[in-house]
Amino acid sequence: MNDQIVSTLQQSLRGRLIGPSDADYDAARALYNGMIDKRPRLIARCVDVADVIAAVNFGRDQGLLVAIRGGGHNGPGLGSCNDGLVVDLSMMKSVRVDPASRTVRVDAGCTSGDVDHATHAFGLAVPFGIVSTTGVAGLTVGGGTGYLTRKYGLTIDNLLEADVVLANGSFVTASESQHPDLFWALRGGGGNFGVVTSFLFQAHPVGTVYAGPIFWEATHAKAVMRAYRDFLATAPEELGAFVGLKTVPSMDPFPKDYWGRRACAVISSYNGSAEEGEKIMARLLKSVPPPIFNWMSAMPFPAMQALFDPFFPKGLQWYWKGDFVKSLPDEAIDTHIAQAAKAPSELSLMHLYPIEGAVHRVPKDATAWNTRDATWSMVITGIDPDPKQADALKTWGRAYWTAIHPFNLEGAYVNFMSDDEVQGRVQATYGENYKRLASVKAKYDPENLFRVNQNILPAAF
Ligand SMILES: Cc1cc2nc3c(=O)[nH]c(=O)nc-3n(C[C@H](O)[C@H](O)[C@H](O)COP(=O)(O)OP(=O)(O)OC[C@H]3O[C@@H](n4cnc5c(N)ncnc54)[C@H](O)[C@@H]3O)c2cc1C
Repeated sequence: MNDQIVSTLQQSLRGRLIGPSDADYDAARALYNGMIDKRPRLIARCVDVADVIAAVNFGRDQGLLVAIRGGGHNGPGLGSCNDGLVVDLSMMKSVRVDPASRTVRVDAGCTSGDVDHATHAFGLAVPFGIVSTTGVAGLTVGGGTGYLTRKYGLTIDNLLEADVVLANGSFVTASESQHPDLFWALRGGGGNFGVVTSFLFQAHPVGTVYAGPIFWEATHAKAVMRAYRDFLATAPEELGAFVGLKTVPSMDPFPKDYWGRRACAVISSYNGSAEEGEKIMARLLKSVPPPIFNWMSAMPFPAMQALFDPFFPKGLQWYWKGDFVKSLPDEAIDTHIAQAAKAPSELSLMHLYPIEGAVHRVPKDATAWNTRDATWSMVITGIDPDPKQADALKTWGRAYWTAIHPFNLEGAYVNFMSDDEVQGRVQATYGENYKRLASVKAKYDPENLFRVNQNILPAAF
């Protein structure tokens, strides 16, 4: 590709086109996961829909590999590619809340923190994930789970409309009434169908929550995990509570005597008063040994959403493995505890995020997200700042997953998959919805232009 061709793209963009000779190329291509080091040929920093159309047309016509970048948080780095074009939406940051209809229009470059900030001013929130720097775009098209999921469903269950630039460069709005097949596929089918430029979400009344972490010594993990499993089944849906096996961080304000010691944690957010929240949590606390600390308190919802941000700055090494989990028998708990104890670093963890309640009330075929009968979405993540630890993180994550997978369902949340999944994992995840996804793919992206993702192959007609 010669300079003249590249300059035609720059001329049609309001945003910047960044290449290897630019001083900020390394900063522009850096992803959240420091383990991934991709070198795109061009990064189109789009500022509006016209830029996205120009970039998609250019990538397609030049035969380039095209990656779509929202927040750049994806585990295996699917927001970028080697030697191709990155359609980078990170400059598209507008958020507009309509308090009357309790809806919010979100540009595709927003992080969940951007949206939480805007909606909180109106006493509202959309169900997103648990770290505020995650991109709304990738999280949403993959499904989206977080503290509000039990009450209000997955992020996709709150999606009303999406503006999309398709592989042929045309622009459409997808909703229940416009391009309903595309709208169906976008809700869980990942970045396979086009570049979403903005989302319209339903928001819900969420203001101050009773929330925070409770940590127990690892010796109590069996008791805590069993009690948590039974507690969750009867806890009100206003409570989002996940269980994790992790380590007490070696830093203030954590109690020094416990720094670096393995622990079990329940991390919760109750959308209601502190008084009610305390009463609900007492049901769990009375059935388990005393914790090392219980830091649940009343706080603004965006504060809870950002609580873990300081522990997970950009650039750490991450290795991800996931599974959907229907039940948690005692033997599975024992396996979790044995595997988590071998974690190669202080930050490495296992979390089980609840995906029941409202998620189960949506039929399996209503959206592309097929697994509507799982109780949790499990993630095992090996995390460490030191690149020399990369192999150890992978070895641990794979061994943990191999040991626990027999207790779990076949599929996993696509946003918690790594780039070395067993064959057929994406199909297993979508189950009976896969065939329909493949035909929607064939209709909207027959040449598989958008293939830097958990890929769905276009059905052959
Ligand atoms: C620290 C951390 C915490 C997390 N916590 C949660 C959580 O609580 N809940 C949860 O559900 N997930 C969570 N995730 C996973 C997260 O959902 C995925 O990493 C997701 O891919 C991030 O989206 P992004 O826009 O930042 O990703 P990017 O890396 O920018 O993109 C990832 C993929 O999404 C697709 N994509 C991105 N933008 C668009 C677009 N505009 N149009 C179409 N497709 C697009 C593309 O196919 C791309 O390959 C977490 C991730 C991290 C790193």
